[in-house]
Amino acid sequence: MKRRAAVTGAGGFIGHHMVRYLKAEGYWIRGVDIKAPQYEETEADEFALLDLRQWENCQLATEDVEEVYQLAADMGGIGYITAFHADVARNNVLINAHLLEAASRNGVDTYFYASSACIYPSYRQTSPDVIPLKEEHAYPADPEEGYGWEKLYAEKLCQYYTEEGKLRTATARFHNIYGPLGTFDGGREKAPAAICRKVAVAEDGGDIEIWGDGEQTRSYTYVDDCVEGIYRIAHCGRWQPLNLGTDELVSVDGLVDLVCAIAGKDLTKRHDVTKPQGVRGRNSDNTRLRETLGWEPPTRLEDGLRKTYSWIESQLVSAGRAPRPRQMTAPR
Ligand code: NAD
Repeated sequence: MKRRAAVTGAGGFIGHHMVRYLKAEGYWIRGVDIKAPQYEETEADEFALLDLRQWENCQLATEDVEEVYQLAADMGGIGYITAFHADVARNNVLINAHLLEAASRNGVDTYFYASSACIYPSYRQTSPDVIPLKEEHAYPADPEEGYGWEKLYAEKLCQYYTEEGKLRTATARFHNIYGPLGTFDGGREKAPAAICRKVAVAEDGGDIEIWGDGEQTRSYTYVDDCVEGIYRIAHCGRWQPLNLGTDELVSVDGLVDLVCAIAGKDLTKRHDVTKPQGVRGRNSDNTRLRETLGWEPPTRLEDGLRKTYSWIESQLVSAGRAPRPRQMTAPR
């Protein structure tokens, strides 16, 4: 018998990749979202367009499945989540509170929750050469306003449901997921996608706008590793949150340099320090992830960026928004 799972947020970036991963594992999948995937048809066996802020819709989303992968959220890059604290917090608290209760009542046996590195306290992220964040660093709490507080609260809800025997949950804290088929414009895009877009549309020798002074640091996780990590964490028998990220730290300027090298373009950086830039530095400590899974995300940033850049560039070129890449001439 095929396992049956619901992937909520299946119209979004990670959810869409998750559906593909689970189909390859032999699952029957119900995808749920308020919108269909933007760039490619879903592989889900059934796709339900439902607003998960509504209780009745959460009941429908979670019925007759054994597993739920909860990837639905009102979210975006730093520009979006710092501009809309009230909407983001309210929408996500409704989605998470209703989905947990509905999954519990429907007898779901495994519930995965997508948390975020945004739950970590700002006082531990004040320097670019940050000490990598361990899971226990989450408290005393001082997360990102709005989005981070809601994620931390939803982690707690998962804990309470598990401790009281209502539902078996597993939680991962994602660290900056990037890859093909992710939003790259419109205001919700994150740094790697935004930088790939800006580099792709720029003429060689031109310039590129960067948010902040470019010295802020992060680590980035390729989406194929993210969905494999989700699957492993969902089935590892541990409810306490685990980091899901790489510990390959890079500054935003370093990220721009990597993308420029991939694109073969020489661009001048123009820093705009009036734009939001988030915490000063953030990295993932993967000690517990390795101990628990005997695994951590293997993809090197340069390899993941190459695939991401190539996809974003091809989208922009076919929309007539970016110049065609120069053809490499084959040696005679
Ligand atoms: P995404 O925005 O591409 O996907 C989220 C999906 O949720 C969207 O398709 C959206 O339409 C859907 N959604 C929003 N409100 C909804 C509602 N009321 N009802 C039904 N669906 C609704 O984002 P993503 O990058 O795929 O993120 C997936 C999950 O991972 C989210 O919980 C996000 O907070 C978390 N996360 C992502 C990152 C990252 O770097 N991408 C980092 C940390 C955490």
